[in-house]
Amino acid sequence: MLQLQNYINGHLVPPAAGRYLPNIEPATGQVFSHIPDSDAEDVARATAAAQAALPAWRRLPAEDRGKLLVRISELIERDLERLAQAESQDNGKPVSLARSVDIPRAASNFAFFGTAAQHFASETHFQEGVALNYTVRHPLGVVGCISPWNLPLYLFTWKIAPALAAGCCVVAKPSEITPYTAFLLSELCIEAGLPAGVLNIVHGTGPGAGQPIIEHPGIKAISFTGGTKTGEHIARTAAPMFKKLSLELGGKNPNIIFADCDLTEAVRTSLRSSFANQGQICLCGSRIFVERSIYEPFKREFLAGVAALTVGDPQDGGSRQGALVSEAHLEKVLSYIALAHEEGGTLLAGGQRVTLDGRCAEGYFLQPTVFEGLAPDCRVNREEIFGPVVTLTPFDSEEEVLTWANGTEYGLAATIWTRDLNRAHRVAHELHSGIVWINSWLHRDLRTPFGGMKNSGVGREGGLEALRFFTEPQSVTVKL
Ligand code: NAD
Repeated sequence: MLQLQNYINGHLVPPAAGRYLPNIEPATGQVFSHIPDSDAEDVARATAAAQAALPAWRRLPAEDRGKLLVRISELIERDLERLAQAESQDNGKPVSLARSVDIPRAASNFAFFGTAAQHFASETHFQEGVALNYTVRHPLGVVGCISPWNLPLYLFTWKIAPALAAGCCVVAKPSEITPYTAFLLSELCIEAGLPAGVLNIVHGTGPGAGQPIIEHPGIKAISFTGGTKTGEHIARTAAPMFKKLSLELGGKNPNIIFADCDLTEAVRTSLRSSFANQGQICLCGSRIFVERSIYEPFKREFLAGVAALTVGDPQDGGSRQGALVSEAHLEKVLSYIALAHEEGGTLLAGGQRVTLDGRCAEGYFLQPTVFEGLAPDCRVNREEIFGPVVTLTPFDSEEEVLTWANGTEYGLAATIWTRDLNRAHRVAHELHSGIVWINSWLHRDLRTPFGGMKNSGVGREGGLEALRFFTEPQSVTVKL
């Protein structure tokens, strides 16, 4: 059976204590690999390696660092099929999705930041006849990157690439639920010739391997993506040590459909924004608000689309919905379906676990599920479910829908469907969301700031924001 290893100081190594954890394939419910159950000793070794590598790495010209990152990007592209298969096996997502979204985006992350570092500039403030002030942006040092299970390689590389491009050395931990592609990445980094210790990947649980990263005094910043509760814990632990924090957390995103929209396009994209990756994308729009005059036609077309979303083996090209990531997560989502019934919702589609034949008989499959008739402020409409469950709610006015859309503790993303440009901009600016899509969803330009308001996080990733995060500005003043 496959046994993953840590990547420390340029080598694939077993965990210091020799302990391993089972890793389950969600589509089959069977253990398919073992991963290091790392602890503080592994993190200490990884951090020491990163500290030793730092002086040479930060001195390397940005162009040379960039070339190595672009090389890693090329190797990811070369191995696209193998990585897509691994991601699908580890996460349960359809291999077609991993092939078209996850892995290409991981390659883009390295290519983007490999070149971005060469365009990163700092400011000069010239005081006529008095002084010249300029800003130097120093790499922060050794930083920690911790990522979740829903878009494993995509989000892992979204943190690592800018950190390395900025001249930092990294101790990174992927989710223990989906570690496989991070392990394959470590093999590619060795092949690319990344200097030893520049990137270290430690596998293990949050308490076992994540906690020592956030506590280690030698790690100067934490870039974290995951749940809001974990983010709160990380902030409480790391903030008193004055670590810089970037926290990308949960969401409960509204999808607002005005009567003047292109209905066909709104339905088509809403099916994706509701159920892509089994609804396990932080940007999925799980609260669909539809202007009353088109509520029934929208509902009819949307439910027809839901009925066509085949749940099946993620390895099968015809499957539109794969497995949920774990049994525990499936149970959590089912508990919200029970809650939706208790809160008075009417089930319009799905609601049941799916049992498949053959190799997937024990997999964690769920029907795409739609409810209506729930109060906008009930728990199902306020709490993050992070699965293939959405609610439909009619609205009568812009003010009403804005109150509901903004009525949760989250503020990550929102979608607006309308042909009225004035309204689109007006509503966008009133939404308490870090990201707003108008007549689209998940359209990403890697230069734009990415992140959430309220309990969806602190700080922004993407483009120059990420390079700024991983650097410390220093002001230098020369008296003229
Ligand atoms: P999680 O918070 O349970 O785990 C995320 C990572 O944190 C994992 O690697 C985990 O091992 C680690 N971790 C857990 N406890 C830790 C600790 N004490 N110290 C250090 N690390 C620790 O989240 P998850 O269940 O893996 O992911 C789902 C969540 O992620 C959802 O809430 C989703 O909305 C959020 N998410 C947000 C974004 C975004 O960009 N805002 C993107 C994807 C997912």
